Amino acid sequence: MQRTEIIAVGSELLLGEITNTNARYLSLQLSKYGLPVMYHIVVGDNPSRLEETFATARRRSDLVIVTGGLGPTNDDITKTVLAELLDRPLVRDRDALHTIERFVASRGRAMNEGDARQADVVEGSEVLSNPVGLAPGMWLEEDGTTWLLLPGVPREMEAIVAATFPHKFSGATLVSESLRFYEIGESALDAAVSDLTNGSNPTVAPYAEAGEARLRVSARAETEVEARRMIADVKRELLNRVGTYYFGSDEDTVAAALLRELDRRQSTLSVAESLTGGRVQSMLTAVPGASNVFRGGVVTYSDELKNRCLGVSLATIESHTVVSKEVASEMIQGLIRLTDTDYGLAFTGEAGPVSSSGQAVGTVYIGVKSKNGIEVLERVYPHQERHVIQDRAAKDGMWALLQRLKKGE
Ligand code: ATP
Ligand code: MG
Repeated sequence: MQRTEIIAVGSELLLGEITNTNARYLSLQLSKYGLPVMYHIVVGDNPSRLEETFATARRRSDLVIVTGGLGPTNDDITKTVLAELLDRPLVRDRDALHTIERFVASRGRAMNEGDARQADVVEGSEVLSNPVGLAPGMWLEEDGTTWLLLPGVPREMEAIVAATFPHKFSGATLVSESLRFYEIGESALDAAVSDLTNGSNPTVAPYAEAGEARLRVSARAETEVEARRMIADVKRELLNRVGTYYFGSDEDTVAAALLRELDRRQSTLSVAESLTGGRVQSMLTAVPGASNVFRGGVVTYSDELKNRCLGVSLATIESHTVVSKEVASEMIQGLIRLTDTDYGLAFTGEAGPVSSSGQAVGTVYIGVKSKNGIEVLERVYPHQERHVIQDRAAKDGMWALLQRLKKGE
C-alpha cells in the first residue's frame, strides 16, 4: 500500500482567498489508481513551516504530492526548501530552460533571473515537462519516499497529472458505492454493521444526514469489475441486515424510490402541501420521468385556500387548529376528490420558529392515501430549524407511502 499525502502550498489558501481544489482533484485521480490518501495538508509560503511539513510527510508517507510554489516569484520556495531538506542541490534543467527562453523571446522581452529559476529542479529528479506553462513538475525518489512536485495553477497541474499518472501508477482501482438508508439512526446502523466496518478491503464507513444515513462501501482491486464484485458481496450482507431501511445508492433519493415503486404498479400520485410549501412536489419533479406517475397537486398555505381548493371545513380548523389530524384528513380526502389519483399525500404542520397555529413547533400531520384507504400520521421534530422540519416532513411522508407500497397497500 502506498500511503499518500497531498500538500498544497500557498498562503492565499490559508487566508481563504482560494479554495484548495487541487487537493480534491488529486484525491479523485489517485482513487482511480487505488492509492489511499491519508492527509490533505495546507501550508503557507513560509520556509520553516514548509520544511517542518515536508519532514513530517517524509516520515509518514510513501508518496508525497506537493502543489504550488514552483513559479518565478520570491514566495515560490517549494523546491528550495525540499532541496535543502533532502540535502541535494538545485540544478538548471536544459530542456525547461529552452522552453522558457522560447516563451520569453516570443513575448519580445529579455530573460530575467526569475524566469530562469523556473527551470531549476532538485538534482536527481525526473523532470515532468509542463505542456501548458513554464514551471516543470518533478518526480523524485529518495530513501523510500516518492516526491511529486506540481505547479499550483490547476490547468498546469492537471496537464502534468494526465501525462504522468497513467504510466507511473499501476492499474489498481478504488471503487465506491454509497448505500442510502432512511429512518435508521446513524448509531443503530453502526451497531447493526459494526463487525463489517473493521475490514480494510472493502471498507465500510457510516455517514449521517438529516433523517438519512449512508454506508460507503469501497473496494480496491486490479479491475473495476473485480472491485464491483467485492462491493456486491458486502452489499448483499448489509442488505440482509438493514435492507428494510435501504432506498438506493449514490445519488438516489427517497422521491425517486417512491416514483419507481408507483411506476412499477402503473399508479398515479398527487400531493397537497401546507408547511412544506411545494417542497414535496419539487423533490418529485426533480426526478426524470416523474410525469409517468406524478399528476400534480396544490400548495394550500392559508386556511382559506385549504377550504376553497380542498374543501377543508373552516369549522374543523376552528375547533382542532390547522395543524391537526382532522385537517390533514380533510386535506387528503379533498385532494383525492380533486385529482382522482391512486395514491396521495397531504402535509400540514408547524415549521416555526414561533408557533402560529397554537401547536408545538415541529408538529406535523401527514395524510396518506393508499389502497388501504386514508390514514393520518403524526410526526414531531422538536428543537429543529424550520428548513429541517420542512425537509424531514417531506421525506417522511414519501417514505411512509413507500413502506405501504412495499407491503402491497
Ligand atoms: P506560478 O508559476 O503561477 O507562480 P506556482 O506553481 O508558483 O505557479 P502558486 O503561485 O502557488 O503556484 O499558485 C498559482 C495560482 O494557482 C494561485 O494564485 C491560484 O490561483 C492557483 N492555485 C494554487 N494552489 C492551488 C490549489 N491548491 N487549489 C486551487 N488553485 C490553486
Ligand atoms: Mg507562484
